[in-house]
Amino acid sequence: WSVKGGWHRPRVQPYGPLSLDPAAAVLHYGQEVFEGIKAYRHADGSVHTFRPDQNGRRLQRSARRLALPELPVPYFLQSLTELVRADLDWVPAGDDQSLYLRPFMFAKEAFLGVRPAHKVGYYVIASPAAAYFKGGVQPVSIWLSENYARAGKGGTGAAKTGGNYAASLLPQSEAYEQGCDQVVFLDSDGNVEELGGMNVVFVHKDGTLVTPESPSILDGITRNSILQLARDRGHKVEARGVTLAEWRDGVASGDIVEVFACGTAAVVTPIGTLKGASFEDQQPLGDLALSLREELTDIQYGRREDTHGWLYRLDA
Ligand code: PMP
Repeated sequence: WSVKGGWHRPRVQPYGPLSLDPAAAVLHYGQEVFEGIKAYRHADGSVHTFRPDQNGRRLQRSARRLALPELPVPYFLQSLTELVRADLDWVPAGDDQSLYLRPFMFAKEAFLGVRPAHKVGYYVIASPAAAYFKGGVQPVSIWLSENYARAGKGGTGAAKTGGNYAASLLPQSEAYEQGCDQVVFLDSDGNVEELGGMNVVFVHKDGTLVTPESPSILDGITRNSILQLARDRGHKVEARGVTLAEWRDGVASGDIVEVFACGTAAVVTPIGTLKGASFEDQQPLGDLALSLREELTDIQYGRREDTHGWLYRLDA
């Protein structure tokens, strides 16, 4: 297809290694951004993705923060469509299965010296993904990272860029050593931020859903969608700073009745345990997380009407 504005030579090619100059800026300064998105096969065989315009716009915001060029959203959408249409058989059918798409952009220009690169590459890789939870959704246990942050005020936390994930790898292995599945980060004000790859939502006794807002959080598309579905059901929704004390006291007093995490990979998953260096709190489990999860996946897999116009057809 044709592209303008400095973007050129788009093509679909077999999966294989990239060739990079050893001085390519991405290898030294981490100038790169990416997205994660899934393609779903419906019972009638058609193939859809979910709110890809939101991923396209987030990729642009990430690119701006990393001094990379902004790929126009129509090109972003076309890159997904062309790749998936190259061989639709790669999109698996079945519960919770999908074709995972990973668009990414990085600095290819070769030089040693800290400045934004002028030559960049944009790619999309695709890989069939099995259900995240085999044998049903399991509550996750999370480790509170008190020594490490994934991002700071004015940093790159709100961008989907490798550096944030690099910063989360050591705390993630600390979480594993502590017998936990995931790590939860605090922001630079000490408020609850997010997990390594998922946002957090608290359900209060009066039905209000509260999700942390912070200058360094990744604004998740799953979170935004789940909160919209909750609003549709009449729940009040708040995005604001949440202190660790509010979380722990809320659970202890019974004001918080459910805590869940959400993101493209795991969709929605209840949080079962919050563990820190000096405490271990069991989290209350309720029905709302799983019922919102079902509603969202029903829309994604075409089992329920898409009243918000969130689906984007890829195969036709
Ligand atoms: N936070 C982080 C750090 C993430 O990597 C992700 C996954 N993209 C999310 C939250 C959830 O975002 P989304 O719902 O758009 O997948």
